[in-house]
Amino acid sequence: MNQQVYPSMSIADPHPPFTDKLQQGAAAVALVGFLMLILSLTNKVEAGTLTWISLVFITMGTIVYGWRHYMPHPEGIKNNGVWFSTLTNRGLWGWLAGIVITFFYVCLYWYPHLLGLSSDGTDNWGLVAFFDPISMAIKGKPSSQWFVYGVLYTLAILIFGVKFILKYRHNRYQVLRTISVMFFQLCFAFMIPEILDGLNKPSMDLKNMWPLNYYFFFDWNLDKLVEGGNLGMFMLIWGIAMILIISPVLTYFYGKRWYCSWVCGCGGLAETAGDPFRHLSDKSLKAWKIERWLIHSVLVFAVIMTFLVLYTYITGQSQILFLNSYNVREWYGFLIGAAFSGVVGVGFYPLMGSRVWCRFGCPMAAILGLQQRFFSRFRITTNGGQCISCGNCSTYCEMGIDVRAYAQRGQNIVRASCVGCGICAAVCPRGVLRLENGSVDIKQRTSEVRNIHVPLNEVGIL
Ligand code: SF4
Ligand code: SF4
Repeated sequence: MNQQVYPSMSIADPHPPFTDKLQQGAAAVALVGFLMLILSLTNKVEAGTLTWISLVFITMGTIVYGWRHYMPHPEGIKNNGVWFSTLTNRGLWGWLAGIVITFFYVCLYWYPHLLGLSSDGTDNWGLVAFFDPISMAIKGKPSSQWFVYGVLYTLAILIFGVKFILKYRHNRYQVLRTISVMFFQLCFAFMIPEILDGLNKPSMDLKNMWPLNYYFFFDWNLDKLVEGGNLGMFMLIWGIAMILIISPVLTYFYGKRWYCSWVCGCGGLAETAGDPFRHLSDKSLKAWKIERWLIHSVLVFAVIMTFLVLYTYITGQSQILFLNSYNVREWYGFLIGAAFSGVVGVGFYPLMGSRVWCRFGCPMAAILGLQQRFFSRFRITTNGGQCISCGNCSTYCEMGIDVRAYAQRGQNIVRASCVGCGICAAVCPRGVLRLENGSVDIKQRTSEVRNIHVPLNEVGIL
């Protein structure tokens, strides 16, 4: 029996649950694996067996920790203690995690030599060289900073995906969509492109479409695909078909969730590794206003940049009025492709919630959101009479939607930003919310308020 004495006299236990010996051991193992990665930056850890040991330690340690955390307890909502842990309440550990991740992204994009990438043709060293054995095994080439990133990104989605499944094992929708993002990240985003690269074939993440894949129409990418034989042509046609046919059709039937919560790698990381931070999203009206301005501005920027790039590709002229297409695309790559989607998008998880990029910056989410808002069957229906106004749904909506406000009025939710993660429905203790793809009343989906209002003079004591 746990003999811990609580310093508080609160009846409702305000303390996060204590970890047992097995969890502490698992955390220590994961930490050792992580420290090996850090130490590799000093060139003190030999790549080879230790590389594999490091990744196995991180994987096993984290999964055993999660298994012990969730499995001894009954299935159901488990967000115990999120506001009491300094990692998840913007406390000391949260800030430290944010700073470390942000620093890693800054190195990745602008200072890869700090991670060990050789700039003068000599051998890599440090963290980049530490991943050589994995790179050689998969594609027969030495590692690069992007290969390191790909491995760590995929590993994070897989490990925290397992943890997520354990946590939401009572909910079939959550389990299935998590398996889906794990599959698409492992196969489509990582293994297939890396293997094709190893075979010196044109490689591409087949699910990463324009405008999220903002360089799809860049001259070097178009040339690579056009000159890449049948495979290259297939990728070119596939990429265009995704934009013009596949995505609009799927969004019409299922809303943007088919992409943002089932396929996309950014969403995959947010849903799995970012899950402990989802309650940190700002639910204020001001944030909603900023979100709409920002995300649609990025979309306009992406469209203008792509138009300029294509104009240059077709005509050979890089100057249009006062805009130079090469300068514009460089600015887009720096501001949106690197600083916003990478540094802010992931580095700020512990401070602004897990979907900072998807909510405020992703031009793909902006397009899908417009479709979802005006031309999609997807909506969240609410049974207002059952709502007890507990606010769980709003708290854990990573997109900052005040779900409770809709639920209290019995009003369907059709919001451009909703990624259909279904967490609001999963955490609702009253079963008020349902994600649906209805075929009727598409135009009137949000206007109806279904609460029963009883006039005061009809209320009496029997
Ligand atoms: S409203 Fe619900 S389904 Fe939509 S993003 Fe928020 S939590 Fe996810
Ligand atoms: S979680 Fe359910 S009961 Fe609680 S406020 Fe939201 S809709 Fe209402």
